[in-house]
Amino acid sequence: MPSARRYGSGMNADTAKTALTSERERLLNDLAHLRGELVDPGRDSAERLGAGSDDSVETLTNELDEGMEDDLQSSLDEVDEALKRIGDGTYGICIDCGQPIPDKRLEALPASARCIECQSKSERR
Ligand SMILES: [Zn+2]
Repeated sequence: MPSARRYGSGMNADTAKTALTSERERLLNDLAHLRGELVDPGRDSAERLGAGSDDSVETLTNELDEGMEDDLQSSLDEVDEALKRIGDGTYGICIDCGQPIPDKRLEALPASARCIECQSKSERR
């Protein structure tokens, strides 16, 4: 679909902001679901969170959920960082090497903070 038409200057700040904002909402929603906050706000979360110390909340969360929550949270952090970079005017520039990130990559992954090369390096760490 995208190859059928060209988008002028590609990924501009407005396009990126729209994509990131909706991505952020989606992640927040997923996180809320995962944490049980949306399931039944009046009862479930109050019971679970009010039941005791942080430790008791921890034991109610299975490892799979924890892993998913970590993933969602880190994605959310990336989106927040990307939104901050739009504000700073540094969006679309690799945070490691300072080179522009290709539009195609930003369109696929609006929260990208690194070019493909630096990303694969950082993932290998
Ligand atoms: Zn780079």
